[in-house]
Amino acid sequence: MRHIAIVGSGPAGYYTAEAAARKWGDDVRIDVIDRLPVPYGLIRTGVAPDHQSIKKVSLRYEKTALTENVRFVGNVNVGSDVSVTELRDLYDAIIFATGAPNDRRLGLDGEELDNVHGSAEFVGWYNGHPQFAALDPDFSGRHAVVVGMGNVALDVARILSKTDAELDGSDIVAHALDALRGSRLETITIVGRRGPHQIMMTPKELGELMHLERASPKVDPADLPPEGDDAILEPGLRKSVTLLREFAAIPESIHGETPITIEFDFFANPTAMRGKDGKVAAVTVERTTIEKGRAVGTGETYDLLADLVVTCIGYHSSPIDGVPFDERAGRFPNEDGRILPGLYCVGWAKRGPTGTIGTNRPDGYAVIDIVNDDIGMGGRKRGREGFDELAVERGIDIVTFRDWQKIEQAEEAAARAGAPREKFVDIASMIAAKGK
Ligand code: NAP
Repeated sequence: MRHIAIVGSGPAGYYTAEAAARKWGDDVRIDVIDRLPVPYGLIRTGVAPDHQSIKKVSLRYEKTALTENVRFVGNVNVGSDVSVTELRDLYDAIIFATGAPNDRRLGLDGEELDNVHGSAEFVGWYNGHPQFAALDPDFSGRHAVVVGMGNVALDVARILSKTDAELDGSDIVAHALDALRGSRLETITIVGRRGPHQIMMTPKELGELMHLERASPKVDPADLPPEGDDAILEPGLRKSVTLLREFAAIPESIHGETPITIEFDFFANPTAMRGKDGKVAAVTVERTTIEKGRAVGTGETYDLLADLVVTCIGYHSSPIDGVPFDERAGRFPNEDGRILPGLYCVGWAKRGPTGTIGTNRPDGYAVIDIVNDDIGMGGRKRGREGFDELAVERGIDIVTFRDWQKIEQAEEAAARAGAPREKFVDIASMIAAKGK
């Protein structure tokens, strides 16, 4: 019998569990451990609440979770509730699928001012992640600056722009919906240090900006390279740039008609944030040019008014006691997912915060092939039996998949009209909902 612990129950965790269950059938026991009492990681707390069709991928993970030899072990923090050394005694392989839950920082003066938020905390806030539910961003100002030109920046700009009616059918949490109702934002400036040809935004997500009820996207035609230059771009990026050209063609009168304008500010590298009474008021940016694909400062600076700033510039993983960590790269050092004998990583914890949800599938299958080469038939570990003894000894209130289903039912029952669920945003309420 092989005993496998997967730490993290997001896409990387569940694709890996699926791969392990398929590879070894009855000859494996898989524990998917999560620090939260609820599964699915970024599907629950990262994917935008108005992208419900993407969230449906969790049905596939549910199927895996309900496989007989797979179990969900929620509400257990590896590193504090149980140590990695203890897990190594119990399991043949421990696979970290812990993602990259922490915001990268710009490292600028003024970044600590009030109402400057990283996207992990801001997205976590509107998605009801218990760690960020108390964030309380302030929408009383007129100007927001969103730093970064990736899909997370688009998610943030779109959620800041949508009306109540446009959020019908989403699972945005009540505290965020209430706060956004009072928003007085008029401009949302998406700032990129490079140009239109270097954006990380994908066409579907970019195209959504064209269909917002009260907001219109604005691109300065002068920022766009000659149209003929688009021919060298790969097809997805070319489509995105074509959309930017469409935004550039929107007449000024339309921007006058929509209460919110989403402005793209290219070739603009933030260099400082300035505040008033402790709260952010402006972002200073330096004009850049592109040399060999890199943004190079020109020395020319200007200020963007900013009552709210959300930085969407990527993430890093969390170190865990007993596991080597590469501080500079912000993830576990690994070779094809191998960290040390018996320790592996997968997904963003392995390769950094890139790719789509689906990228995690081949990743999960590949790491299981490697684990298979390393552990053969498995050893004499005690696996979940030993883990459960430890949990009882420590008084850890493990949340099982059956418990999660009770939490899920309670969230569905509490949903406002048209919404799929109203999430619990604190751990105590989740635990209470599962009952005894
Ligand atoms: P991303 O795609 O890597 O974009 C990060 C952006 O931040 C880039 O424009 C980057 O500019 C900029 N940036 C990084 N460091 C910076 C700095 N120091 N100063 C100024 N700008 C900086 O990251 P993401 O938007 O966080 O997305 C993470 C992953 O999740 C991506 O794979 C994304 O596609 C995926 N995702 C997908 C969806 C979806 O499919 N609907 C939604 C959300 C996220 P440079 O290019 O110049 O470095």
